[in-house]
Amino acid sequence: MSLPRRYPLIFNPSARSQKGARTRHFLMQHAHRFALYATNSGGEATELAKKFADDGEPVVIAAGGDGTLNAVVSGLAGSSTAIGVMPAGTMNVFARELGIPSNSLDKALEVIDRGLIREIDLFSANDAPFVQMAGVGFDAMVIEETQWEMKKLLGPLAYLLAAVKVLGKKPPIMDIVSCDGRREQGVAVLCGNGSLYGGQFKLFRKASNLDSKLDVIVFKESGYRFVLDTLHGIAQGGIDLAATTVYFQSEAVTVTSATTVPVEIDGELLGRFNEIRFRETATRLRVLAPEHPCGTPLMDTVKSVLQWPPGGYETAGIETR
Ligand SMILES: [Mg+2]
Repeated sequence: MSLPRRYPLIFNPSARSQKGARTRHFLMQHAHRFALYATNSGGEATELAKKFADDGEPVVIAAGGDGTLNAVVSGLAGSSTAIGVMPAGTMNVFARELGIPSNSLDKALEVIDRGLIREIDLFSANDAPFVQMAGVGFDAMVIEETQWEMKKLLGPLAYLLAAVKVLGKKPPIMDIVSCDGRREQGVAVLCGNGSLYGGQFKLFRKASNLDSKLDVIVFKESGYRFVLDTLHGIAQGGIDLAATTVYFQSEAVTVTSATTVPVEIDGELLGRFNEIRFRETATRLRVLAPEHPCGTPLMDTVKSVLQWPPGGYETAGIETR
């Protein structure tokens, strides 16, 4: 009988959450299945993943949240090494998108052992690859404003407090130009390779990570108007249905701004730029994933709650196009 395969696995041992502790416990229990590589930074994880890819390793596992995953993907981009995902973060957006079990590491390992590889689009922002989504302006500013100490103390509430602070600021004006000649102006831009954003929330309703297109949402209003419009759009069944958002699909998009604007990819801050070029990378990403993404019953529940009352909200006084 042949021994089960042993995979190189990259993880961040300093993840302090309860989930982090459970993950470490799981890895120790299954130590015979993995060659464990602890990394202390995203850069280190990227370098290590790149080394495995250069060595022709068929599979590299990333155990952690979307940040760890993004770092490992950056190292594997352009290679034929497949990524295995052991979801151990708070949101695990990418795992949910692909139907990789995000609440059981045993089941996630089963998916990897099954060995089915799916090839998906891989896009980049100023040449930094991202698997799920990217944001320019508002959501990146919130991440920028959320202090690590506050996050530890308050959890998700820290983001909400930062959001309130950002909403009170004067927003940047951005010009958005797509490769097919479309021009928009806005205060924030979100780009989706997958459909989910921040957990179970299906933000990009038409997104497919197989169509070589990025789904783009441009927000034209800022401040509390932005919040009201966004909530109104969600109540109607999609953020893009708000009167002050524009939704389109394109193979490549460039965002420019006179002032530097922060950019996040897969929830991690990339930096501040005057120009951000979004485009597809030269090769697709190979991911070990189930054949069919599993359904998300919670999402259906959330949707039905948001669509209450049936027939939608009173729209009087709100302009619609
Ligand atoms: Mg797409």
